[in-house]
Amino acid sequence: MGESERGESAPRVRVGFWCANGHDTRIVFAHDVEVPETWDCPRCGLPAGQDQQNPPPPPRTEPYKTHLAYVRERRSDEDGAALLEEALQRLRARRGA
Ligand SMILES: [Zn+2]
Repeated sequence: MGESERGESAPRVRVGFWCANGHDTRIVFAHDVEVPETWDCPRCGLPAGQDQQNPPPPPRTEPYKTHLAYVRERRSDEDGAALLEEALQRLRARRGA
């Protein structure tokens, strides 16, 4: 830290980060520090990127699922598969006719 002892301020870079909620955050980095690609938005906690037009998408939050929720989900999957099969059979029947 010889520079500060001599009373000189080290060169710094100011970098803007934008999150998906449109918050902009200005972070000042020392010139010799590697600027990260993303920065956690201090206002909402979402990842913020340096491209204002294309902020990083919010991370997927996996809600806690109960066993019942898993069972229901599986059942709806089976229903969906049955509906798909039914639709395919109808389509085949129509093609055959
Ligand atoms: Zn934000």
